[in-house]
Amino acid sequence: MYLKEQEMSPKLISIVIPIYNEEKLIAELYRRLCSAIDMFPDKYRYELIFVNDGSKDRSLQFLRDFQREDERIRIVDFARNFGHQKAITAGVDFAAGDAIVVMDGDLQDPPETISNFIKKWEEGYHVVYGVRTKREGETHFKLWTASLFYRMLSSLSEVEIPLDAGDFRLIDRRVALQLRNVREENRYIRGIVSWLGFKQIGVQYARDQRYAGETKYTLRKMLRFAIDGVTSFSEKPLFLSSYLGLLVATFSIAWGIWIIVQRILGISETILGWSSIIVAVLFLGGVQLCCIGILGQYLGRIYGQIKQRPLYIVGDLYGFSSQPESHSSHPSLQPREVYQADHTVYS
Ligand code: UDP
Ligand code: MG
Repeated sequence: MYLKEQEMSPKLISIVIPIYNEEKLIAELYRRLCSAIDMFPDKYRYELIFVNDGSKDRSLQFLRDFQREDERIRIVDFARNFGHQKAITAGVDFAAGDAIVVMDGDLQDPPETISNFIKKWEEGYHVVYGVRTKREGETHFKLWTASLFYRMLSSLSEVEIPLDAGDFRLIDRRVALQLRNVREENRYIRGIVSWLGFKQIGVQYARDQRYAGETKYTLRKMLRFAIDGVTSFSEKPLFLSSYLGLLVATFSIAWGIWIIVQRILGISETILGWSSIIVAVLFLGGVQLCCIGILGQYLGRIYGQIKQRPLYIVGDLYGFSSQPESHSSHPSLQPREVYQADHTVYS
């Protein structure tokens, strides 16, 4: 009887959406999401998990307004801004679905694509990631740097991370369970999901313009994220200094021999110029500082990791039933991860 009920009850799909200062688009996002998921009303059940990443505007208030009316909505409200990747992490931690879709809240990832993801999932794929065919409304600078970065990362990294794919994807529950065990502080989630393995496939989609508001990824955040990607998936930059050192040493030995030979043969008596010495000193100084900087990038991340702080702090939860499956039973969410052992659950 119990089994039969299980078979009959439609599968649950969780949709995880990080939100940071998006008050201008929450209503439209909710409308588009509803019309996209209402396409199969009987086939699946849905839960919409919004992670409010410390928004300073009225995002939480608007989300709460919808959540009071719609029991499918759950809100994980962070105590402060922890960043996009950690917001996604929390959403996946709290999701109870058989499949979990992660998408941006700014409607750049069209909700209508979710049904294509689900089709591939039904075919047996465990990870279905979105591949951007064209990107509307992005600056040439962003397109060019993104494309360069993805290609550089794939040449540096041994893990095969798909090109031109972001975090818009569907993951099966079994992938989510594994993802929850990866508690890296500096997270590059798309890379971690590739590293996990499983049956993965890409689905193409056209990335739209941001519906309203501005990008929350400043140049500084983007650069930091890019370095997170490289440092998490490649050790090669660490070896750069040894190669450069070897190169410079070989070159200077050859040059030294040449100077001695000149002296012995009496070919050149002139004292070599001041400028060439200064150029050599400054060049080497620059190379050394760069190499120390690379060490610093790794060292800082090791320091961040070793402190073992929780990845994020949950302030409040709204819309979860009092015993949500996802965070009462999950080992990674025992007190170490969520600071309140027994959170207050608001409905
Ligand atoms: N976001 C977040 N925390 C942050 C920055 C961004 O939760 O610190 C959310 C943001 O609200 C959006 C998604 O992450 O839903 C993607 O951000 P954005 O569109 O600004 O990035 P872009 O598409 O420009 O790379
Ligand atoms: Mg965006």
